[in-house]
This record gives sequence, C-alpha cells and structure tokens, in this order.
Amino acid sequence: MRTTFIGVGEAFDDNQLNTSLLIETAESSLLLDCGFTAPMGFWKAAAHPLDLQAIYISHFHGDHFFGLPALLMRMKQEGRTAPLTILGQPGVEAVVRQTIELAYPGSLAKASFDLSFMECSAGQNIVLGHMCLGFALSDHPRPCLAIRVDCGDRALFYSGDGGATADTAALAAGADLIIHESFTMDADTPGHGTVDASIDFARRAGARQLALVHIERDVRKYQNDQLQQRISLSQEPHVIVPESGDSITITSREGDNFTSQV
Ligand SMILES: [Zn+2]
Ligand SMILES: [Zn+2]
Repeated sequence: MRTTFIGVGEAFDDNQLNTSLLIETAESSLLLDCGFTAPMGFWKAAAHPLDLQAIYISHFHGDHFFGLPALLMRMKQEGRTAPLTILGQPGVEAVVRQTIELAYPGSLAKASFDLSFMECSAGQNIVLGHMCLGFALSDHPRPCLAIRVDCGDRALFYSGDGGATADTAALAAGADLIIHESFTMDADTPGHGTVDASIDFARRAGARQLALVHIERDVRKYQNDQLQQRISLSQEPHVIVPESGDSITITSREGDNFTSQV
C-alpha cells in the first residue's frame, strides 16, 4: 500500500498545498481530501490520475473539499469515462453537487463520467475494492471523520482535522502508519492536534511510522529547527514531516520504504 503526500499544508499556507493523500494498492486508488490547492499537486504527483477510483472527504472545510470542481473539470477535459465515487459524511452528495454547480454551472450534467456517492458514519465499515475503510469522529469545530484504511495485513490511519479522541485512538490501534494533523508544536489549540500529542497518539497506537501534516504555516517557517529536534527524540514511532510529492510504501511488518522527492 503506497501513500503519496499530494499536499501537506494547512488551510492558508503560502508554501504548501492543502493536505491531501493518494492511497494506492495494486487494485485500488483513493484520494483522501481535496482542498483548494490540492489538484495542482495531484496532477503533478499521480502517475495515473485518470485511474483514480474514489475520493474521501473528511469534513466540509474548504481546504478539504473545495478542490473538487477543479479536479473533476480537468478529469472531464482529459476525457475520463470511468465512474468516480465520492465518499463523505451524510449529505455529501448535495454538498459536492452544489459546490461544483457554483463553480461551473451545468458542467456535471455534461460530464463524460458518472459520479456516485457513499455516505460514511462513525463506527461504520465500508469495503472499497480491496480496501476496508473505518471511521471515527475527531475533535474539530466542523465534524470530521478520521479514516482507517486496511488492505490485507497493512493499515494506515489519517486524522483529517482535529485533535485525538478516544474513538480515533481506538480506530488507529495497530495501524502501521499514522498520518496526523499537527497544527501547533505543543500549544493546546482547541479543535486541532499538536506535534507532541500526535507523537503520543501514534506511540499508543503501536504505529511504526508517523507523518505530521497540516502544520501551522509559521511553525513550518520559523520553528523548523525546534520541530526537527522534537521529532528526532522519538525512537518509536519513526516520525517524519513529509513534503508534497513524498511517498511511503507500507511493505510488510519487516519495514517500510520512505521515498522523499526533496
Ligand atoms: Zn484543514
Ligand atoms: Zn477543518
């Protein structure tokens, strides 16, 4: 199972694309979140962009789904014909259709491919190709469903936005890779994760690797030395701060393969 970091930034970062992850197995592909700026990274990083099977929207904040009109319109331009599934919280179909209609009125009716929608709820399991998906509510002002993706004996967890909860901790238990929103270094920002809390979360889950994403832009710019020092202190899990285009392949229990594009 391969994870490509399409973007790793928070909502309004001037250097980083919005956090978005492309999950690929031999049989399936799933994009996790698609904010305003994510499509730019998707077209650059995805080897087979038109083969994307599904998109999961963790919550309805613009930096997590306002990229859908641009992504879908370009797919139309590129001649996509295969159906595309969009997954998200109850009401996802109406939200997505309204968003695309606002951006490009009438375009969906003329699209060259069909959209289908699947609603997701906390505690539910959904089978998508060879992937099994699970969900839990995080602590965020807008309800956000963290997601777990299992494929065979490999599993990853992505927090979406928000601090950890007992439910997200239970969902993450035993995952090989945790990708967690870590907005601030250690300050307690209501409704968001922190670097320290994410490290503690991944350790408790028994994960081998933790990727910190959605880091506040000034932390990335001005506190990078402190950030690197903090993560270097963690032996287990191994902590990384990925850049757009980086990827991780979860191979087996023996070890993962991290590839940095920078
Ligand atoms: Zn966000
Ligand atoms: Zn949010």
